[in-house]
Amino acid sequence: MKIIKDINEMQSIGEAARRAGKNIALVPTMGALHEGHLALMDYGRSKADLLVVSIFVNPIQFGPKEDFEKYPRDLERDSRLTEKRGVDLIFSPEPKDFYPEFFQTYVNVEKVIQNLCGASRPGHFRGVTTVVCKFFHIVRPHLAIFGQKDYQQWRAIWQMVEDLNMDIEVFGYPTVREADGLAMSSRNVYLSPEERVSARSLSQALKEAQALFRKGERNSNILLDRVADLINQQPHTRIDYAKIGHPRTLEELTVIKDRGVLALAVWVGSTRLIDNCLLEDKEQ
Ligand code: AMP
Repeated sequence: MKIIKDINEMQSIGEAARRAGKNIALVPTMGALHEGHLALMDYGRSKADLLVVSIFVNPIQFGPKEDFEKYPRDLERDSRLTEKRGVDLIFSPEPKDFYPEFFQTYVNVEKVIQNLCGASRPGHFRGVTTVVCKFFHIVRPHLAIFGQKDYQQWRAIWQMVEDLNMDIEVFGYPTVREADGLAMSSRNVYLSPEERVSARSLSQALKEAQALFRKGERNSNILLDRVADLINQQPHTRIDYAKIGHPRTLEELTVIKDRGVLALAVWVGSTRLIDNCLLEDKEQ
């Protein structure tokens, strides 16, 4: 497995692979890899001839008070893990090459980013869609794999690809969880042992809401009150938002006619965790 830092080199490899008729899959990550990321890679491996994983802590998607500096970074460990999963290439450019001094072009999806994390983290999704658009031009993938754990991110990228006629399949992989239900995240390492216990309440609340939904509850406020109760009962928790939106547009739903997505962002101590689930009649 090769680690590529040079942008032109990556682009030449992508182009050559395309010309040779190879199918390219890309899994964009910020590193600090866990089983959730690795599951995306396994999926990519099963679909592609050339599997590329990008590892890049993208400065332009972090707000000024967010954890860009302290975000965990360990390229050596990440490369051992990816190699074991059959990844062909890691693309890990230097921020100064990726965003040179005169950089000034951004991609902005307008509607699906307004609610949820887009409201709490101004500029975040502009940073995400811009970095992913650049990766698409550099790596030239046929398939790009994202986690449904970052539901709004997945939808924003899907929308960008649709609106800008990018010839790339965007796949949303289901959320991979710890045994007790906590969604795997690179940020879970920030949690103290007590906070880790409280963090379970996110997935427990989602499960409870799904159960109520399947029993016929369609009123968002009733579902969200129950979610808030369960989370607020735990120490160290503070809800940033808990909302139910349309699965495609992410517009808020007061009544769920058919399907909805219940999305949460919760501070547990000084760590902000997100999670979500679909509300629909069939089991996920
Ligand atoms: P990150 O490095 O955390 O930005 O994540 C890179 C990719 O992995 C994104 O598409 C995430 O949605 C996805 N991902 C992160 N955690 C999980 C998880 N627990 N299950 C599935 N996908 C995940």
